[in-house]
Amino acid sequence: MLKKKYKKIFYLLLLIFLFTFSVVLFFLNNKKIEVYGIKYGDSFYHSKNIYYEDKFGKPLPFSWMFYVIKYKNKIILIDTGFNNEALVESLAIDYRDPFYLLSFLNINSDKITDLILTHSHFDHIGNADKFKNAKIYIQREELEHFKKNSKDKKLLNFFENNDKLVLFDDYYNLYNFFEIKKIGGHTIGSSIVLFKHNNIEYVITGDECYLIDNCDGNPIGTYYNIKKNRDFISWVKENENIRILPLHDNKIFNIYPVVNNFIAKII
Ligand SMILES: [Zn+2]
Repeated sequence: MLKKKYKKIFYLLLLIFLFTFSVVLFFLNNKKIEVYGIKYGDSFYHSKNIYYEDKFGKPLPFSWMFYVIKYKNKIILIDTGFNNEALVESLAIDYRDPFYLLSFLNINSDKITDLILTHSHFDHIGNADKFKNAKIYIQREELEHFKKNSKDKKLLNFFENNDKLVLFDDYYNLYNFFEIKKIGGHTIGSSIVLFKHNNIEYVITGDECYLIDNCDGNPIGTYYNIKKNRDFISWVKENENIRILPLHDNKIFNIYPVVNNFIAKII
């Protein structure tokens, strides 16, 4: 009689355990991704550089950003910002150190496992050599162009002797979740990053759209191939469930919740 009773309790406890375990698994799985937009600077930039058809004719507010994604046990950086005092001064940027901002998320440079570079302009690639454990993804022609034209000896040397580089032509699929895709409108191999979460498609635009407003149908003013930029913008406009994540737009901080004045929590 007593044995029967214990058996019942055992099965009941087992059931409770299995239920709790599946609930925890469900939530863990749902939380497998966190996405943050990090703003390391604010300045102004002339509208003729931002818009192909300049409708303002004056300097406009312009932010300087990169993104960080925690995905399963990976920490992925999309672009790096830069640490160069002369550039900060010449562009009159109200500037915060990108590494200091990362520390608010308990991330130091060694923890970055993957670094995606959308293109090779200084504000996207400047700190690429500071993440010693990261694999680095960049479009092939973009890197070739950088190697031929850049005068940044430190970065040139870094890219020359690097066995962690992953070069791609048209696209690269990272962890079966992120699609890195060449557009080639802003620069020769400028790329975007796409991923889906809860039926929403997110697109980190690189500088194919400086601002969300560019992706609304207003091509950029600084371009390599304006047709490719226009085609990308048309594609964005055809998609209904799409969220634009540019790298120079303070609006991100009005749309998404914030961790502090410089970090927005996208997901
Ligand atoms: Zn940029």
